[in-house]
Amino acid sequence: MPELPEVEALAADLRERAAGRVIERADVAEFAVLKTYNPALTALHGRTITATARYGKFLDLVTERDPGGGPVLHLITHLARAGWLRWRDKLPDEPPRPGKGPLALRVRFADGAGFDLTEAGTRKRLAVYLVADPMAVPGIAALGPDPLDPSFTAATLAQILAGRRTQIKGVLRDQKIIAGIGNAYSDEVLHAARMSPFRLAASLSSEDVAELHAVIVGTLQEAVARSAGLAAGDLKAEKKAGLRVHGRAGQPCPVCGDTVREVSFADSALQYCPTCQTGGKPLADRRMSRLLK
Ligand SMILES: [Zn+2]
Repeated sequence: MPELPEVEALAADLRERAAGRVIERADVAEFAVLKTYNPALTALHGRTITATARYGKFLDLVTERDPGGGPVLHLITHLARAGWLRWRDKLPDEPPRPGKGPLALRVRFADGAGFDLTEAGTRKRLAVYLVADPMAVPGIAALGPDPLDPSFTAATLAQILAGRRTQIKGVLRDQKIIAGIGNAYSDEVLHAARMSPFRLAASLSSEDVAELHAVIVGTLQEAVARSAGLAAGDLKAEKKAGLRVHGRAGQPCPVCGDTVREVSFADSALQYCPTCQTGGKPLADRRMSRLLK
C-alpha cells in the first residue's frame, strides 16, 4: 500500500507531468470507486490541472476555477491497499468500457496523454472523490496531524501519546491520530527507534517520545528523498528496497543480523527484530495462542 512517502512522490511526479494540461475527459471503468456524485466527473472536462497536493495518503489533483465562475475542483484519490496510478504518454482514443480489468478510472488530457487508476481484483477498494473542498472527503476531515508538517513537534507527539493505553504500533498507523503512516513505515519507525511494537503508548518517557519523534520524521524524510524524482512505475520497487524489517520475515536484520520475525497484529501482520526491539525475546502471537487455548 502506498504510504506518505510514495503518495508524496506521486503528487510531485504528477505535478511535473500534468500541471498545465487540459482534461479532455475523465471516465470511470468501475463505478464503485467513485464516492461522490455532485459535481459529476464531466465537470472536469475542459479544466486545466493547476497543482497537486497530498493529505495523509490521499492524492489531490487541483483544477482551475471554471470560466463560468464555478469553484476550484479537487479530484482526490485514495489508492487503498492495491491501487496504483499509471501515467501514459498516449492513451487510446476510445473511452474505456466498464469491465472486469484492473482499470478503475482514466483521465485523458487534450494532448492524448493521461493516467489510469488501477487496482487488480474484482472488488476495488481504491476511492475517488470530486469535491470543491478536500475537507468534504470524510477520511481527510478525520486525519490527524501530518508528521512532515513543521508544526508536528515532539510536544505534538507527546500530547498524542499521553494517556493512550494502546500499543504504539496501532497508534502510529491510525490515520485519525497521525496522518500518512501505514503498516510498512510503522514497522520501519519502530525498528529504527528500537522499540517494541506492543509497547503501550502512554508508557513512553519524554526522552522516548523525543527519540520516536526524530525517528518518525527522519524515516519519512529519508523515504521521501529516495522516492523524489522517481516515476510512478519505479516507486514500488524503491519502497521495497528501502525497507529494513517490513515484509522481511525470515531475513537477517540489516542492523544486528538477528532473524526478522513476524507476529499477527489487528487485521494483518507486523515484522520486527527481536534483538533490536524486544530484548531478544520473540513476541507472543496472540491470535495463535488464543487459537491454541
Ligand atoms: Zn536487529
